[in-house]
Amino acid sequence: MELYTPKDIQELKILQDKVMNCPKCGGSDYTCECVKDYKFLHGMIMSAIPSKYRYADINNIQVATLKDSLKEIKNYVKHLEENKETGLGLYLYGTTGTGKSYVACYVLEQALQKGYSAFFCTVEQYKRALFDKDSDYIYNVNESDFTLIDDYGREFSDTKGFIDSQVDEMLRYRYDRNKSTIITSNILSKDIENLRIKSILYDAYIKLPFESVDYRKSLGGLNAKKSIR
Ligand SMILES: [Zn+2]
Repeated sequence: MELYTPKDIQELKILQDKVMNCPKCGGSDYTCECVKDYKFLHGMIMSAIPSKYRYADINNIQVATLKDSLKEIKNYVKHLEENKETGLGLYLYGTTGTGKSYVACYVLEQALQKGYSAFFCTVEQYKRALFDKDSDYIYNVNESDFTLIDDYGREFSDTKGFIDSQVDEMLRYRYDRNKSTIITSNILSKDIENLRIKSILYDAYIKLPFESVDYRKSLGGLNAKKSIR
């Protein structure tokens, strides 16, 4: 799967020019902000984070129903190193339009900032990569320090909780290797019982509700450029 879009290449080029013309370092200091900015965007692209979720910031979100979940997430990020060691993950659940993916990308981006590897994939993309035998993509999903599985259970259609077993196998693979995974899902906490991976979810994930709110009405403080779902 191609990770760069033409727009990404263009945006990287702009940051690269900024590095070359940096008034502070002239492109010679790898610890300068200009280089960090370039590396961060490059990291987000290589991590397959969709452009609408890049530069996610949860500090401006003022939604009463999300207060507790966001507090937990800030705490999770604060202890990222320990969480990576223990393989603790996050299970963000709720209906669509509650900002789960945006918040989950915030966690991935914090991981990148701290020098960890991170990767974003939707269940659809993962299944396509398996079908295409895209070994690079599958490697990233399986082996990154932090992998985000977006939209787990979106195609969850039968009441027995059946979802493509290959996705569950991947989640088990990561669990067995103590790798932290972040899942966003519309399968609510009470319905986890029906899932094959329920023991994993109970053991290695903090489960956080994202209750239905109309973001456009309640998210006054959020940068309008950044979309929410
Ligand atoms: Zn510089």
